[in-house]
Amino acid sequence: MDYKAILNAIEKELEHFDPGGKVPDYIPELAKVSADKFGMHLYCINGDNFYFGDHDERFSIQSISKVFTLALAKKYGGKKIWKRVDVEPSGDPFNSLLQLEKENGIPRNPFINAGSLVIADILISELENPKECLLEFVREISDDPTIEYDDKVAASEQTNGYRNIALVNYMKSLGNIKNDADDILDFYFHQCSLAMSCCQLAKSFMIFANEGKTLRTSKKMIGANSAKRINAIMQTCGFYDEAGEFSFRVGLPGKSGVGGGIVAIHPGQYSVAVWSPLLNEKGNSEKGMKALEELTSLTGLSIF
Ligand code: GLN
Repeated sequence: MDYKAILNAIEKELEHFDPGGKVPDYIPELAKVSADKFGMHLYCINGDNFYFGDHDERFSIQSISKVFTLALAKKYGGKKIWKRVDVEPSGDPFNSLLQLEKENGIPRNPFINAGSLVIADILISELENPKECLLEFVREISDDPTIEYDDKVAASEQTNGYRNIALVNYMKSLGNIKNDADDILDFYFHQCSLAMSCCQLAKSFMIFANEGKTLRTSKKMIGANSAKRINAIMQTCGFYDEAGEFSFRVGLPGKSGVGGGIVAIHPGQYSVAVWSPLLNEKGNSEKGMKALEELTSLTGLSIF
């Protein structure tokens, strides 16, 4: 497959594509990011890699971090996590409170905010220093010790985090949160603030494309079965109430974040990350989705 030519074609095709939408202003730090950033980086399972544009610039990965924390929780929390978080698509916005009341505080899946807050709670119970452990994990899978939390972004979200504060307290009232709400929120805002480039994201997501193994060292970071299950949840829940649309248009497991990033993987083939900050109404990067749709159209390959 000539990925170089394909990425060149995507870059050219989308050069003047205006996705509409807006950068998120409920996290003031993210509203400062220039809307015209655009980059893409693809890593093949054999290490070949291809890229264009702002592929090397770090941005706030936001909800993409929910995949990393789920991987860690599966590692340290085992099967018992599924008693506290379900694996069904929500069909509702990522920060919705709606289903929690009817469903006894059990979030629909680990990739909506409520679900990721429960995963954060589990990690706080299981790990001595969860923030450090997450950072080490992400640095190891991306083979890059320079990855950091962005404290400014975390603080910015904290000042406006009413929804997440409500979610965690509501679940606590229903008995599905064990630790102190402030500790959970601090961990969650930090995981979302991780600053990574498309290059680093594509490399790190190779564990999901390659049966749990890292790209350069082939170190097994999660079990192949875990990777399989996490990919299934990305496929069905990675884009909230737009998961069906992403599956229909792109046909790969993926995860988005309100920083404008999207990562997708083709198991056994490649992992790819794209960044364009303008978000559609569902909170997903419209140009990013378009770029990935082009990718699977031009390669003629998806998981379907
Ligand atoms: N930190 C963001 C929030 O909780 C993450 C949302 C997202 O990326 N979809 O609202």
